[in-house]
Amino acid sequence: MTENRDIWVYVETDQGKIVKSSLELFTPALEMTGKTGGQVTAVILGSNIEEAAKTLGQYGAGKVIAARTGEYCPEAYTAAMAQLINKYKPDAVMFSATANAKDFVSKLACRIKTGVTANCTELSIDPETGLISWMMPAPGGIVATILCEKTRPQMGTVCRGIFKAPVPDESREAEVIFEDTDAVPSTQIRRLAKEIIKAEKSIEDAGIIVAGGYGARPEGFVLLEQLADALGGVVAASRAAVDADWIAADRMVGQSGKVVHPKLYIACGISGALQHIVGVAADCVVAINNDPRAPIFEIADYGIVGSIFDVVPALIEEVRKAKG
Ligand SMILES: Cc1cc2nc3c(=O)[nH]c(=O)nc-3n(C[C@H](O)[C@H](O)[C@H](O)COP(=O)(O)OP(=O)(O)OC[C@H]3O[C@@H](n4cnc5c(N)ncnc54)[C@H](O)[C@@H]3O)c2cc1C
Repeated sequence: MTENRDIWVYVETDQGKIVKSSLELFTPALEMTGKTGGQVTAVILGSNIEEAAKTLGQYGAGKVIAARTGEYCPEAYTAAMAQLINKYKPDAVMFSATANAKDFVSKLACRIKTGVTANCTELSIDPETGLISWMMPAPGGIVATILCEKTRPQMGTVCRGIFKAPVPDESREAEVIFEDTDAVPSTQIRRLAKEIIKAEKSIEDAGIIVAGGYGARPEGFVLLEQLADALGGVVAASRAAVDADWIAADRMVGQSGKVVHPKLYIACGISGALQHIVGVAADCVVAINNDPRAPIFEIADYGIVGSIFDVVPALIEEVRKAKG
């Protein structure tokens, strides 16, 4: 299928520091390229990665490809890796099975139309074809062997702690190539999202407000947007959600935020602290909270005890049905 036998090791970073389990991947990668005559290339993404990139030759990388993508964000990392893979066409890419890698590698596989084997504990390679056997424990106590015969690159995540990282050889250096990817850095994506929300109707003028609190979690805000859309309203938030950086500060309701006067205020995962409710001058308040003792129920006209992740999707469905 391909004569390129290069194996990439994806090196994860956090604030410019290498996530240690990434280094473990050099051991099986070097062993496999030793059999095929290929090269191990380290690929490092993140912010402030200049120093970290320079050290990767010490672990056996023949070449280092680096991209300044900003801190982890699934969209930016998927786009950057897809672009690099399409440019260099490696034969295989290995990832340490960290939470971030588990989050974006399946998206990447879909984007570049190849497969990915998750949580491998053993690897071997056919020296002639470069075909990797990705082995993973499967139900029933068996070890499943997965081959990626028809597409490239072959990709897999490797469980942490299975391999020992090579001892760094400080006399080794590798060429570092900085690539500009068009992937929008994660910080810009977040800023853009905030700008889009800002550009919406101000919460002070809104007739219907769907407000999210700390209980909504960042993923819940996606549901709240959908409910607000279905109702023709806007999304607002408690200070706890704003402080967590899930939504722009101009969406904050309460003592240090804005006083709102909608016809309908739906409080989702908001406890109902005094500093919040002083900002709620609504005709009708609906509270959704999974704690029946939450103070928000004391001021609510209608209360629903339950998780927003159950209640809000059901509400969206009913609103859409009612609108036909
Ligand atoms: C000087 C000062 C000014 C302040 N100004 C403001 C202000 O302007 N606005 C403001 O909002 N706060 C303000 N605060 C902060 C305020 O005191 C509270 O800390 C804040 O309102 C709490 O936000 P919350 O209800 O989102 O979070 P929490 O108090 O953490 O409540 C989260 C709620 O979510 C519920 N929950 C959890 N999971 C789920 C789920 N899956 N489904 C449904 N419910 C769930 C929990 O039961 C809980 O009731 C101020 C504080 C101070 C000291």
